[in-house]
Amino acid sequence: MEYIEQSMNRAKNGNCKGDTLFFQALREVLVSIAPLIEKHPEYLDQHVIDRIMVPNRAIHFKIEWLDDDNVVHVNNGYRIQFNNALGPYKGGVRFHPSVNPDILKFLAFEQIFKNAITGLHIGGAKGGSDFDPKDKSDKEIMKFCQAFMAAFYNSIGADIDILGGDIGVGAREVGYLFGKYKQLTNSYDSIITSKPLSLGGSLGRIQATGYGLVYFTQTLLEDRGETLKGKICTISGSGNVAIHAIEKLYDIGAIPVTCSDSRGTIHDSNGIDLELLKNLKLERRASLEYYTLERKNATYVKRENYVQGSSFVWDIPCFAAFPCATQNELGENCAQLLIHNDVKIVAEGANMPTTPKAIELFVENKILFAPAKAANAGGVAVSVLEMSQNSSLNYLSSEKVDKRLRDIMSTIYIDLKKTCDEHNLGMDLISAANILGFKRVADAMIMQGV
Ligand code: GLU
Repeated sequence: MEYIEQSMNRAKNGNCKGDTLFFQALREVLVSIAPLIEKHPEYLDQHVIDRIMVPNRAIHFKIEWLDDDNVVHVNNGYRIQFNNALGPYKGGVRFHPSVNPDILKFLAFEQIFKNAITGLHIGGAKGGSDFDPKDKSDKEIMKFCQAFMAAFYNSIGADIDILGGDIGVGAREVGYLFGKYKQLTNSYDSIITSKPLSLGGSLGRIQATGYGLVYFTQTLLEDRGETLKGKICTISGSGNVAIHAIEKLYDIGAIPVTCSDSRGTIHDSNGIDLELLKNLKLERRASLEYYTLERKNATYVKRENYVQGSSFVWDIPCFAAFPCATQNELGENCAQLLIHNDVKIVAEGANMPTTPKAIELFVENKILFAPAKAANAGGVAVSVLEMSQNSSLNYLSSEKVDKRLRDIMSTIYIDLKKTCDEHNLGMDLISAANILGFKRVADAMIMQGV
């Protein structure tokens, strides 16, 4: 359809030249919504695409902080407040050396639709910094978080923009960010989620993205007469999402056998030792290479020894593959390996972890595919439960949070299936997620006028 290339060209000639990740995310949405546009040309008449692809506000700020030797460091900080048609901006904060405006723009754009798919009233945003938390002392992390918050605290608020966790930002960082906001504004407003429990965090928030991913995948499989029970699963990553996906996979009787970090990959054919993994990653913040010191039968492959184009995780035959590390981690070669090994389903725990070429291969080969915008929405959904607990002062038990999470994930699946039926999409959940998310946001924008 003509509008796709026209809109892409307008985006490219606009103020985002060279934003390759953002263009990747934008193209996927534009291509997917073709059946919707065909039925509803009013979206083109109303110029909704032009309006939706430009962030409402993009803030770029400087962060100056002192390390333990009193040396000054300067980092870039960003917050992309992309769209608030459905509610206040909501989305995580990422601290990683790869962070740049392009990455955050793609993440914020994805977040708009993911948040809309949850059915909750939140807009989409993302923020972060090119700060590298690796090997920093606790005090340095605290100083950096304080400087980050001080630089842009007046742009956020409990009804304006609510931050959350992401890569490099866990309970510790959230605590420091929250503490600085409180000090600067004298308010205990819920301007960030994934807080530690004693600061008003929600039970079940840490687990939510990983658990939600498994609930979504299991719902999808059960609907097709299949199950994860007793099946070999491969997982990449070893952060919050990967660890809790592994935990839930064990709960339902599946066998998770891999995990990875930036330095290498573990394959433990007996099943990943979850306690050891948690100890290494959550307590000691250590590299996965220490895993094999205690689990002698496991294999550790260093990143520099990966065969080109592979990541080692996806070489392992499995029934279900869960990319839970980072964007574009699963490329064409990995997809070929998975297909060759007869994978049945790929479910995205990270944001946009599968490249367009790899997705094409999965679609051609009729591999079930659970896209991130739906499959990993459990995290942000429980963040909204955290916000609602903070404002009502009525705190939920973990059982209640878990029940709400299961309900949200199964409603997402039902809504996607309905969208598939409405537009004759078969099991194309990628298009269904984009259509559902786009429609909700576009309709809300139109109702609010230009
Ligand atoms: N970073 C998570 C995501 O990508 C959670 C965001 C949040 O809780 O605000 O959805």
